[in-house]
Amino acid sequence: IRWWDHVTPAPKDPINSVTEAFLADPCPYKINLGVGAYRDDEGKPIVLQCVREAQAKIESSNFLESNSTAVSSKLVEESAKLVYGEDSDVIKEGRFAGVPALSGTGACHLFAELQRRLYPNSRIYLPDPTWSNHHNIWRDAHVAKKTFRYYHPDSKGLDFMALMDDVKNAPDGSFFLLHPCAHNPTGVDPSYEQWKEISSLFKVKNHFPFFDMAYQGFASGDLERDARAIRIFLEDGHLIGCAQSFAKNMGLYGHRVGCLSVLCDDKTQAVAIKSQLQQIARTMYGSPPIHGILLVSKILSDPDIKATWLKEVKVMATRVQRMRAALRDSLEKLGSSLDWQHITNQVGMFCFSGLTPDEVDRLAKEFHIYMTYDGRISMAGVTTKNVDYLANAIHEVTA
Ligand code: PMP
Repeated sequence: IRWWDHVTPAPKDPINSVTEAFLADPCPYKINLGVGAYRDDEGKPIVLQCVREAQAKIESSNFLESNSTAVSSKLVEESAKLVYGEDSDVIKEGRFAGVPALSGTGACHLFAELQRRLYPNSRIYLPDPTWSNHHNIWRDAHVAKKTFRYYHPDSKGLDFMALMDDVKNAPDGSFFLLHPCAHNPTGVDPSYEQWKEISSLFKVKNHFPFFDMAYQGFASGDLERDARAIRIFLEDGHLIGCAQSFAKNMGLYGHRVGCLSVLCDDKTQAVAIKSQLQQIARTMYGSPPIHGILLVSKILSDPDIKATWLKEVKVMATRVQRMRAALRDSLEKLGSSLDWQHITNQVGMFCFSGLTPDEVDRLAKEFHIYMTYDGRISMAGVTTKNVDYLANAIHEVTA
């Protein structure tokens, strides 16, 4: 019997395909603007100083012997403070269920599984567009999906009216996925006032907001400020869920450290939800790997190391903001007749450039510049050395 004859390869991930094409190109001045990973101004990945310091501290404790339950609790507690605020009642009253997760992806997956378990007939509303893997995650969890309008191609900004309409027209008590800051792929975030209106409408509609926070700190350079959307919902008395990732803001991609938290009405509910989440995790990976959790807990709980981290987040975010300004400036100096304001209006790691698939194709073939076909530019791949070359190429293909 031939067990696997009916199997064809799964479709390639659009972001991984960009990396493959980039790696296969021998050109010495090629540029990878696909993957959303931070690079310094030399185009190199960096290990943050706070991570080096945390590593040195955990080496002196015998971490292989560490009690994983205690270490996980510390991670969850510190992560929750980042999202909900140092003095938040939610934390003081223990009104949340939190578990470590395999980075942001794992946290989303755990939540999708929980949703299916507890609300098998519910669906998830995803922004259009969103990180492509959201679609895969909720599909594989067998939760029905729908999109809500988010981005306006003409303004290259938020389609707020359409968003509010879709929130209003969804059945009461729906689950919505929201990016609290640095929306991927568009770099378009609602303003403070718009978040307030969204939160009020969610209240009227009894919707459940699930926040996927993969880039806390990357929008403004300030972790507190980037949590303000969530704080508005908190203030308005919503129960919410939140997936956190330390891949980007700590540069810990390979360590897969994240956290999922779900707010509850009281402690009893929190105990129940947490045990459900732990049971889901047990069938997938038992317990999470402990090294990254130790690093993140150390960074978040040691005041000196945390201060170093906050500065380093600011440095990364500022570099990306400078590259936005430089790219726009360079395009304007070249005399481009197109409007490039959105490059600096959008925030976070990504610029949703408005480049068409044909233009993206030409950038790869003629200029060795690689990005996804939706025209998303990872600003972290832009440096003072390549920004003029990039602007020139964009100008050539759009002129
Ligand atoms: N959510 C969003 C919106 C993302 O952009 C990403 C990373 N591309 C993730 C979640 C997952 O990131 P990770 O699993 O690497 O933490």
